[in-house]
Amino acid sequence: MTYAGVELGGTKCAILMARDPAAIVERELIPTTSPDETLGSIERTLLRWKSSHGFDSLGIASFGPIDLDTNSPTWGTIRATPKRGWANVDVAARLKAAIHVPVAFDTDVNGAALAEMRWGSGRGFDDFAYITVGTGVGVGLIVNGRPVRGFGHCELGHVRVARLPGDAWPGSCPYHGDCVEGLASGSALEARFGLRADAIAPGDPVWDAVASALAQLCHAIVCAAAPRRIAIGGGVTAAQPHLLRQIQSRLVESLGGFLTLPSDGDYIREPELGSDAGPLGAIALAMTVRR
Ligand code: ZN
Repeated sequence: MTYAGVELGGTKCAILMARDPAAIVERELIPTTSPDETLGSIERTLLRWKSSHGFDSLGIASFGPIDLDTNSPTWGTIRATPKRGWANVDVAARLKAAIHVPVAFDTDVNGAALAEMRWGSGRGFDDFAYITVGTGVGVGLIVNGRPVRGFGHCELGHVRVARLPGDAWPGSCPYHGDCVEGLASGSALEARFGLRADAIAPGDPVWDAVASALAQLCHAIVCAAAPRRIAIGGGVTAAQPHLLRQIQSRLVESLGGFLTLPSDGDYIREPELGSDAGPLGAIALAMTVRR
């Protein structure tokens, strides 16, 4: 079987065709501009590959929020987004109609979680969580082998958390102020200090606040779904790898002996697929299409 995937990102899109990570047949990277220009370019690339090699299904891993309720008349669209021109754009139905293959559509972080479960840090598990801490904080929460969903998709990056004593910074989330994303994302750090995560010293006390917010997010995830492992990736933790150890120890302390984690000391891990988790997430989604 051969699969095509599109990782639709806020600034760029990865288009690829693969059988698995070791057999990527084609790969292209294009900038995300207007919906017509970007989707038109994706269509042309996929049609070219379809006629030259052929593929069986297409996975689309998109920035959100998106409508992935298959009973909804607006399934496959991007919902309210600050990204200009992209609100209510029908991504999945348009590509499905143009390419004529079965399509799986999900969030970029759910795709990345499935890819890490298939080929990376979550290998062998059916219950796994992948957190990305970059511009925002996204969570792909996989329960019984499938991403959790109800009327919408997982938005655990927006849970509210207790503040560290003495830290009264209001947070940067336009909706909640000091939710996890408002405290720990790259955008939060830039709003707070005017600095990127890699420009802040590893010993800066702000990392205590960031680790505390992320450990509380992990506490909520463990209590809700008991994943067998949590991988944390994204630009912020990649720039400050010490955070993972701190989150792990804060999580154990926060659980207070009420729950025992299944692995000692390395329950919180780095993802193994690195920057390929996103594009391979689209391939992992394509592999979930039922025929
Ligand atoms: Zn929020």
